[in-house]
Amino acid sequence: MNGFNTEYQLQSLSSGKIFSDSGWLLDAPNETPNCLLRSVYKHKKLNLGNDEAGIFKFGDWLPLKGHLLGSSAPVTYKSEKLASILGLKNLWITFNGYWPEKGVQMTTCSFKETEAFTVCSRLNGYKGEILVVASAGNTARAFAKVCSANNIPLILCVPYDYIDALWFDKPISECVKLVATASGSDYFDAISLSNVIAKMNGFSAEGGAKNVARRDGMGTTVLSATTTIGKIPEFYFQAVGSGTGAIAAWEANLRLIADGRFGNNKMKLIVSQNAPFLPIYDAWRAGSRQLLPMNDEEARLHSHKIDAKVLSNRRPPYSIKGGLYDALIDTNGDVHKITNEELRAAAQLFKTHEGIDIYSAAAVATASLIKSVEVGQVLPESLIMLNITGGGEQLFKSHNQISYLKPSLVFNIDASDMEITEAVKSLF
Ligand SMILES: *Cc1c(COP(=O)(O)O)cnc(C)c1O
Repeated sequence: MNGFNTEYQLQSLSSGKIFSDSGWLLDAPNETPNCLLRSVYKHKKLNLGNDEAGIFKFGDWLPLKGHLLGSSAPVTYKSEKLASILGLKNLWITFNGYWPEKGVQMTTCSFKETEAFTVCSRLNGYKGEILVVASAGNTARAFAKVCSANNIPLILCVPYDYIDALWFDKPISECVKLVATASGSDYFDAISLSNVIAKMNGFSAEGGAKNVARRDGMGTTVLSATTTIGKIPEFYFQAVGSGTGAIAAWEANLRLIADGRFGNNKMKLIVSQNAPFLPIYDAWRAGSRQLLPMNDEEARLHSHKIDAKVLSNRRPPYSIKGGLYDALIDTNGDVHKITNEELRAAAQLFKTHEGIDIYSAAAVATASLIKSVEVGQVLPESLIMLNITGGGEQLFKSHNQISYLKPSLVFNIDASDMEITEAVKSLF
């Protein structure tokens, strides 16, 4: 037996059909691609592996096709100081990032690592493909780390103005290439570049929310919380850009109900965005399954104003069947908006009372919890999971010598597809 080769199938949420994961599937075969696929695991009861396995300790419920080195699982602990300031008796913090004292060593400092390890393990079954990832920061860093340590070919597409996000404590292997869109371009230009590259022979797009490995990897945050607490929490707090982590939390919750040992409640998902960048908030408040019409120029301006840049996703998987709207409806969820001032105060409060620096996005979730306490949406006894999606970067940088990954190619925004494909071919 190979403990890192999980038995699972995939299910279409439109037709209900179950089929095997015969390839790098993002959509059900022979169906209109209008829903998310969901993984169906053979083991309905979660058998935890040992802690040395890192994130693979949750391997029963991850679509794995091979083991990878260097992972760390999220850690959940019961808050004392922040909880007492807020008057809460059952506040549990799930920490993703770098905090060795608590036993968590995600050296790229965010929960994008849970996704990167799981996606790369699933990809292991299709050796030879070069993975294509577009990102403005945390995702790129997580994939670079995992692919470099495990010799998986990867091409990252990042806007030139964001390449400072590609800091590492170790040199990145030659199998990882960074290509950038010229200075002045934004995340959407990087996505367009990645779309051209992903169409080339031998290259595969990561797939975002449609990739079950991405979601199930992020769902380990809820597996960590529930197995540590012994019960499914009543409330789940997370800041969202795409909402993939919250969809994943809901799916993990459904699996935990089926397991039978942790209760049968659904966590109320309380997700939050950084004002004024609010596509999910606006649609939810309007009671709309569709995102409201958006002015792209205005969205770009708003994305420059917010501290938590990782939350500035303009095309979240909100309305798709099995997506964020369905998750919020099914869990009687809610969406909050948080200003820069509120999140900065929350980050400071977290650092003072819990003792670690957290990312602005995680501070958005913390501020959202504070808001829920103020308005009585949560009560002193409520069983709460606060997902700290990233943190410990300052601590990590104080412990390590940092170097940066440099781009192999920089493309002008008007580069032709032909220019791009010729130049990219020469890299591998
Ligand atoms: C990507 C990211 C988020 C948002 O996650 P989604 O579930 O994809 O919306 C939140 N916090 C941090 C630190 C992130 O990197």
